[in-house]
Amino acid sequence: RSLFGALDRQAPDALLGLIAQYRADPRADKIDLGVGVYRDEAGATPVMRAVKAAETVLLAEQGSKSYLGPEGDTGFVDLLAAIVFGPLAGSDRIAGVQTPGGTGALRLGADLIARARPSATVWIGDPTWPNHAPIFREAGLTLASHRFLDGAGAVDFDTMLADLAAAQAGDVLLLHGCCHNPTGVDFSADQWAAIANLCAARGLIPFIDLAYQGLGDGLEADAAATHQMLAAVPDALVAYSCDKNFGLYRERVGALWVQGANAALTTLAFSNIVALARGIWSMPPDHGAAIVRTILERPAMRAEWMGELDQMRTRINALRAALAAAHPQLAAIAGQRGMFAMLPVSTADAAVMRADHGIYMAGNGRINIAGLRLDTIPAFVAGLSPHLP
Ligand code: PMP
Repeated sequence: RSLFGALDRQAPDALLGLIAQYRADPRADKIDLGVGVYRDEAGATPVMRAVKAAETVLLAEQGSKSYLGPEGDTGFVDLLAAIVFGPLAGSDRIAGVQTPGGTGALRLGADLIARARPSATVWIGDPTWPNHAPIFREAGLTLASHRFLDGAGAVDFDTMLADLAAAQAGDVLLLHGCCHNPTGVDFSADQWAAIANLCAARGLIPFIDLAYQGLGDGLEADAAATHQMLAAVPDALVAYSCDKNFGLYRERVGALWVQGANAALTTLAFSNIVALARGIWSMPPDHGAAIVRTILERPAMRAEWMGELDQMRTRINALRAALAAAHPQLAAIAGQRGMFAMLPVSTADAAVMRADHGIYMAGNGRINIAGLRLDTIPAFVAGLSPHLP
C-alpha cells in the first residue's frame, strides 16, 4: 500500500487560481483587487529603491555566505526591534530571532506555545487571514474563534468580549497589530486599552501579528497598540513581517519576538525558540534580512525607505478616501487602514463581477485597495453597486 494513498486531496489556494484567471483575461480594463501585494499607480509591485541600493552594497561588500545560525542576522533583529518596540527595544525581557517571513514567525511562535503549554487554546477573530488557522492547527494547538464585527462591518466590542468570556487563563489571543487583514478594521486606542486590561486580568497571552507596520498611519502609530499590549502583560509574542513594508515578499523576511515576565524567563523562551528553529529550517534565508539590515544601518538608505513607505501609505489612504466618497455604502472604508477592505459581496456576486466587468476580488469579498487607481474607481463602483445590499 502506498504511503501517499491515505492522504486526502487538498484544494489549491483560491487566490492563486484567481491570479491565473486574471492573467488569461484579455480585457484591457480588467481590475485586479485579488492578490495581497502593494501596487503603485501603474499597477506594478516594483523593487523599492532603497532595496535596490542595499542589494548593490551587498553585492559589492558581502564577503562570505557562510552560516550565521538559527537566530539569523542579529543585526537585522536588533535594528528592526528599535522600529517595532521603540523605547522597549533594549529591555532584557524582550528577545527575538529572524524568521522566514511573518508566516515563519507565526509558526515558530505556535510551536513554542505548543511546547510550553500544549493545552492552550488559541483565540482567533473571525474573519482573519486564512492562513492563521492552519499555522496554529499544524502546530497541534486547539483553536477557538471569536467575533469582533457587527453586521455592518464595524467593531462590535461587546460581542468580542462575550465570546472571549469562555477563554481560560493561559490561553492565547491572536491580534493583528495594525491594518487588519482582510477587513482593514482596527481597534481604537480605547478598545486596545480594554483588550490589554482583559489579557492582564484574565491571564490571556497576546500574540501580535504585525505584518503591515507603516502602511496604516505611519511606523510609530502602527506600533502603538503593540507597545500598549506589551506594557500590560507579563508574557507576549510578536510575529513580524518585513515583506510588505520593504516590498520583499518572495525573500521571506520576518522576525519573532517574545516578552517574558523577567529576563531569566525570556532567556529560557529564547533558548527554546532557537532549538525549535533548528529543527524546522535550521537557519533562515539570509538575503532579505541582510537587505533590511543594510538599509537600517545607513541613514540615507533608511530615509529613502521611509520616504517610499510614506508614499505607499499616502497612496493607499488617498484611494481609501476616494472609494469611500464614491458610494454611501463604502463610507466606512475611509476610516479603515492597511491594504485591504472587505465588501459585503457574496462569492457568487464576486464571480458575476469577474465575468461581467473583469473585476477580480477574493471570494470572501476582500479587495486589495492598492489594486485600484483614482481613475478606475468609477468603473469599479459601477460594477460593484448592483451587488451592494
Ligand atoms: N500575517 C498577516 C495578517 C498577513 O496578511 C501576512 C501576509 N499575507 C502574513 C502574516 C505573512 O507574511 P509573510 O509573507 O511575511 O509570511
